[in-house]
Amino acid sequence: MSIGENKLVIGIILGALLGIFCGWSFGESMLSLSWLGDLFLDALKMMIVPLIVGAIISGVTSLGDVRRLGKVGGYTLLYYAMTTACAVLIGLILVNIIQPGVSANLETEITTEPILERENVGLSELIKSLISPNIIHAASNTQLLPIIVFCLLFGAALTTIGKNKKSIINFFDELNEVMMKLVMWIMLFAPIGVFSLVASQFARVGGGENIKAELIAVGSYFFTVILGLLCHFLLLFLILIIFSTHGKQYLLKLLRAILTAFGTASSSATLPLTMSCAIEAGIDKKSVKFVLPIGATINMDGTALYEAIAVMFIAQAYGINMGATEQVIIFITATLAAIGAAGIPQAGLVTMLIVLNAVNLPAEGIGMILAIDWLLDRFRTAVNVWGDSVGAAVIEPHLLKS
Ligand code: ASP
Repeated sequence: MSIGENKLVIGIILGALLGIFCGWSFGESMLSLSWLGDLFLDALKMMIVPLIVGAIISGVTSLGDVRRLGKVGGYTLLYYAMTTACAVLIGLILVNIIQPGVSANLETEITTEPILERENVGLSELIKSLISPNIIHAASNTQLLPIIVFCLLFGAALTTIGKNKKSIINFFDELNEVMMKLVMWIMLFAPIGVFSLVASQFARVGGGENIKAELIAVGSYFFTVILGLLCHFLLLFLILIIFSTHGKQYLLKLLRAILTAFGTASSSATLPLTMSCAIEAGIDKKSVKFVLPIGATINMDGTALYEAIAVMFIAQAYGINMGATEQVIIFITATLAAIGAAGIPQAGLVTMLIVLNAVNLPAEGIGMILAIDWLLDRFRTAVNVWGDSVGAAVIEPHLLKS
């Protein structure tokens, strides 16, 4: 890593630690600094739509032929499906061994109304969300899936038309270059942004004493999720070593994005940084442009793992036995629910309703894990971003070959 990058990583780590310390110790008074974090988050969000449009269209056209798109798309989806399945499996194994729900304190229940009212989620909604009748509306609401689908189709169509397409392809190539430059500028602001985001979130939940009480109430659940996320993080590292040409340097290069994911709790908002770090780490641009935007939207290993553990925890706390069949259902629906979760804070909590419904558990069970979710969200988002990044490294050789 260059000296500048090193400084930035250290800055972000210090920002996060200082944020935890200040939010923990000074509680609500830290809220007065929350605008700094909002500014950072908004600047990142401002990048997302133009970045994705430029990246995907220029990424697809650089493949040259629509048939290659199918092949590469196939590899990418296979990687996502396999790693997400591994994540759910790790979650299920750990939750069966540790059984965190058996000793849970049910009196910690909190109202779930805000979540239950938020949106109706089901398989058909997931599929419908791929297409938006109004792409401008989707863009103005940062609904990424329909934008991605549109750009994939647009790029594919562009490769099939005759000559005279050079200028339009150049336009999207250059749009992407400019956006990446802007992202590098915003990145300089990351240490302060992460500090403010973390400190104000800790402050919002009432500072250290409240967090301690929450952790004690669902301690073994918290521990099970963190352990699962750690195992999956290491598994992804192993996959990186075995299936790509990149090694531990890659993890170091990606640290800025992973830490920002922790700070923002949003894989979508982190996407610009993830792309920038992956390019700096030497990943071929085609892979970065193609794999990362799709990954940030549909590949959420951390979320899938968390959903499996959370649902099993709720069942254990209610004393409801989940047999092999139910666990297979959890396995499938947790994978789908993670795909359906948007890359925004606590989206996984909403799509978890799909899993709870599938195994007939009461949606109110979410109340037990609500209080601590904001913290787990940060850890699982970091794993989500790491999963996407490893994907870009693993798909790279196939892209270059095809
Ligand atoms: N916050 C997560 C993300 O953006 C989604 C979730 O699990 O809630 O990746």
